[in-house]
Amino acid sequence: MNNLPKAMLIDLDDTILAYDKLARPTWLSVCQNHAETLPGVTPEEVVEAIDEYRKWYWSDPTRHRTARLNLGNVRGDVVEGGFKRLGITVPGLALKMGNEYAEKREQAVTPFPGAIDALVALKDLGIRMAMVTNGSSETQRAKISRWDLEPYFEYILVEGEFGTGKPDPEVYRHAMTTLDSEPSNTWMIGDNLEWEVAAPQRMGITGVWHDWKGRGLPQGTKIKPDRIIKSLQDLLQLPLE
Ligand SMILES: [Mg+2]
Repeated sequence: MNNLPKAMLIDLDDTILAYDKLARPTWLSVCQNHAETLPGVTPEEVVEAIDEYRKWYWSDPTRHRTARLNLGNVRGDVVEGGFKRLGITVPGLALKMGNEYAEKREQAVTPFPGAIDALVALKDLGIRMAMVTNGSSETQRAKISRWDLEPYFEYILVEGEFGTGKPDPEVYRHAMTTLDSEPSNTWMIGDNLEWEVAAPQRMGITGVWHDWKGRGLPQGTKIKPDRIIKSLQDLLQLPLE
């Protein structure tokens, strides 16, 4: 047995399922579909404006929380914000494009190559696993059931069902209780440096950062992951201690 812990808390989006990298290509395809109704601008320019606005929109933790728990209106609002930057006013179009985007993007979500194999192997090694995911019950459960992820986890904590999400310490505490583990023998694995590294580390949990982009830590960050992996399979190839 290598140096793997008794228990792992694992994030869903951008850890098991590739999610973020779909945003821009999906927006581009939606904008291309509506190129004729958007005179005077190229689809690329619209994507750029939407991109700028959505980065601003999601950058505030409070707005982020409200938005992820009710994605219903968010996409339309984001298109509207992009349109405003370009001076575009076409009644009803922002909402239509937002809905189209939501449907396309959820359809395109897929596990990272090797992610499911890694879950199978970790389970076979006897590691107790809980999924800890932020977002609404509806959106998160749809992805979990579509990819049949339930069997790998003894417990699945969804923010919208539990009532609070990462980085609230209660979330990690509750997940550890269900796995009968302590911070000293638990790892939290995910792509968000605050939610899955810094916050768990403050409780004594090992924080493993999933660097799915493979670009290393962002410049200027003070957060120091205990381990950095580029895929869940890397967990199985850690050096012996
Ligand atoms: Mg994530």
